[in-house]
Amino acid sequence: MANKAYKFRLYPNQEQQAFLQKCFGCSRFVYNHFLRVTTDVYAEYKKHFRYKEWANLLVQLKKEFNWLSEVNSQSLQQTLKDLESAFTRFLKKLGKFPRFKRKSNRQSFRVPQHFSITEDNKLKLPKMDAISMVIHREVEGTVKSVTISKTPSGKYFASILTEQDIPKVPLNGGKIGLDLGLKDFCITSKPEKFKNAKYFQKSLRRLKIRQRRLSRKEKGSNNRNKARLAVAKVHEKVANQRLDYQHKISLKLTHENQVISCEDLNIKGMVKNRKLAKQISDVAWGQFLNLLEYKGELYGCDIYRVDRFFPSSKRCSNCGYIKEDLTLKDREWSCPECKAHHDRDVNACHNLLAFSERTSHGLQATSRPVSSSKILSLMTGIYA
Ligand SMILES: [Zn+2]
Repeated sequence: MANKAYKFRLYPNQEQQAFLQKCFGCSRFVYNHFLRVTTDVYAEYKKHFRYKEWANLLVQLKKEFNWLSEVNSQSLQQTLKDLESAFTRFLKKLGKFPRFKRKSNRQSFRVPQHFSITEDNKLKLPKMDAISMVIHREVEGTVKSVTISKTPSGKYFASILTEQDIPKVPLNGGKIGLDLGLKDFCITSKPEKFKNAKYFQKSLRRLKIRQRRLSRKEKGSNNRNKARLAVAKVHEKVANQRLDYQHKISLKLTHENQVISCEDLNIKGMVKNRKLAKQISDVAWGQFLNLLEYKGELYGCDIYRVDRFFPSSKRCSNCGYIKEDLTLKDREWSCPECKAHHDRDVNACHNLLAFSERTSHGLQATSRPVSSSKILSLMTGIYA
């Protein structure tokens, strides 16, 4: 059984929008409140919090702030569970320290139970009337939860998480090493290259014009809000284009192969390089690797992440010679040992593939299961 999510556009009426706004607000309030307390407790006692303890505190908080009871209580509990897992990921060094949620960012809350899709294809949530929804594809499998989100440009979405048995792609024996780059977005050992589409850079001019307009508008004015929306729309379009491109590549790769071995990038460390930071965040490798893992699990393709200290570029994939003086500028090189001529990136891919094939001999490469919260964050576009 695998987790699969569907994302549909919602069209709430005025009244529903107002209620959803309340839900987003309460969820954000609870998240931020407990994050603040967690941070304090952690700083002072180095003690982690457990959901159970916090659920009790939430009851008290609701007595103090009556308006929290106006929204679905399970959504607030879910917010705490999400905070707990964000914190657990941080402690396991799998994620950043959870950040405070801001009103200007994408808003969301999750409904774990008691929701349904009505016969006329509307979404019924607790404590409110059914919301109009455009279901552009059939929902299969067992429905587990629904996450409602609102983009900064004012669009509403429902991401429905399901559990289902998806037929695996027939065994084809395909195995590739995969290298991520800036010149080409990704390169495989086949060899195959996917160009870096540079969506952000392409819309930079338009973005700058709109940001300049925004900066000239008076704070709190209606025109400023319009200008803010215009900026948000550019960002949204870039994020959508990028996600669409990555969906296509990851779908192709996971369908054609049973094993994909790629580098486990230290993305955070790389973004610290200011010159490259913008370009690196534009390619969004982290999002791509998550998509690969998500689809890999769905269709039966193992994704291995190879330790980032493995010298994949400098090693000759033919004989194992390590060319220490290889620089970033060397796009092609010849091995002094066996005379093999290499394309830098394709050679790295061959090494990555060979590396994961040796894992049975005690070397480390990991194929991580994809958590449902990761899938949801992909669908609700938290990476965007
Ligand atoms: Zn060689």
